[in-house]
Amino acid sequence: PMASVETITSCIHTILTQAQHRGITPLGAAFRSAMYNQRKGLKPVQVKTGKLAKQPIPAEHAQHLCVYHEADPATVAAAIDGALAAHANWEALPWADRAAIFLKAADLVSGKYRYQLMAATMLGQGKNAWQAEIDAAAELSDFFRFGVKFVEELYQQQPPRNSKGAWNRVEYRPLEGFVLAVSPFNFTAIGGNLCGAPAMVGNVVVWKPSPAATYANYLTYQLLAEAGVPPGVIQFVPGPPPEVVQQCIGHPAFAALHFTGSTHVFRSLWKNIAANLDNYKGYPRIVGETGGKNFHVVHESAELTNAVMQTVRGAYEYQGQKCSALSRLYVSSSLWANGFKDKLLQEVSKIKVGPAHDFSNFMGPVIGRPAFDKVTGYIKKARDSGSEIIFGGDADDSVGYFIQPTIILSKDPKSVTFIEEIFGPVLSVYVFDDAEFDATLDLVDSTSSYGLTGSIFASDRHALVRASDRLRHAAGNVYYNEKCTGAVVGQQPFGGARASGTNDKAGSVSIFYRFVSARSIKENF
Ligand code: GLU
Repeated sequence: PMASVETITSCIHTILTQAQHRGITPLGAAFRSAMYNQRKGLKPVQVKTGKLAKQPIPAEHAQHLCVYHEADPATVAAAIDGALAAHANWEALPWADRAAIFLKAADLVSGKYRYQLMAATMLGQGKNAWQAEIDAAAELSDFFRFGVKFVEELYQQQPPRNSKGAWNRVEYRPLEGFVLAVSPFNFTAIGGNLCGAPAMVGNVVVWKPSPAATYANYLTYQLLAEAGVPPGVIQFVPGPPPEVVQQCIGHPAFAALHFTGSTHVFRSLWKNIAANLDNYKGYPRIVGETGGKNFHVVHESAELTNAVMQTVRGAYEYQGQKCSALSRLYVSSSLWANGFKDKLLQEVSKIKVGPAHDFSNFMGPVIGRPAFDKVTGYIKKARDSGSEIIFGGDADDSVGYFIQPTIILSKDPKSVTFIEEIFGPVLSVYVFDDAEFDATLDLVDSTSSYGLTGSIFASDRHALVRASDRLRHAAGNVYYNEKCTGAVVGQQPFGGARASGTNDKAGSVSIFYRFVSARSIKENF
């Protein structure tokens, strides 16, 4: 019911036109690079380890989308060696040519590969067509196209002064060694950004995709190669997550981690990197976007219909499997009693759950068996602890991993479903007394250790400002009168602090600073 065509087109229209990248002849340079690779026989090596794994289709788990060869230790070692061997040439390639390759990649995403990427994301990751389009078509091409613009901005950062007789400049070198990109299942675009951003500024990257997004990520890898990324610069290494990642972190040439995934895994990788510190040439850069426990706070002055619609979209688009997804709602008691509750129940009851080939399904499956068990486990915990399930609560894994949109109403705002990340279509609701608005802000701030996204709904500007100030550190992305998901590249730089990550904003210039090592040059003349 909430799906709107405007959302899709407005994302697509954020894409910059070629003309805005002055001085770069995108297609020509990328074409030359691709032709050169072809002439030299520089083709990616396809390694068949014989260790076969399947990417299941979550809406129909008896079926799978692809079978792939998992990387074994010898393959990972060869991937790292190949990346390091490609480093010098890639670093030496003029920026205009590197830029051209990524602009060409952006064109391939929004053109030739668009529907293939979308289909892979729909089938493999369980998105509906609308969610697949804003991810695998719009955001992925935005990451590449805006990325080029951000790198141009970065390279233009030069010292503002030359003293008499001296010439100063700063050169932005890629890191020595290789970058490890570890990407999640929930956004095809994030995989492209985790490998693409470091590569854009001249790094070589070993990319370990999530097993649940292998195929869509493989298509991304393929189109990058087609756009002219030379073999070795991005090494696509699907494989068992702990082994591949640990082998990379244990390598002396490991230079950076670019990660999106769970808080727990990120913390353990960070410790692992610390334990290996003496083996490295430098101090590795660690960039991570992790979990969230994102909130909506609805003041008594909020516009009711908007607050409800945004709440439904924030909580249930893509089955609540965005890191940014809404999972705790704090709503004024007068608003709740005077229409919010009824309207919320009415809207949620319109949501259809099922496979993506039926376009009327607003929600699809959760990603897999562990996710299904985890989410249903939280629903059970809520029931057992005396919270009221006011909507949904049912689940069916006979064909696919389907869970109904679920609303938990609790009188205890410190119960577990307000604290821990669930990563599924479950919304916990706490109704606060209108007079307790300020105390509720304290509660929102102190309940969770995360700090990713949050929204404030109020038409009383004083209340809005008060809430925003009080929740200053509770979210890296805050929205006023709008849902807490759906950051757009080039519009809302994305990322959170606290336990949600290093807050190096994806979709902005700041992420690129983390993957360069600046050299200051002074010359007297
Ligand atoms: N950038 C996405 C959003 O704002 C979320 C990304 C994620 O799930 O990591 O909704």
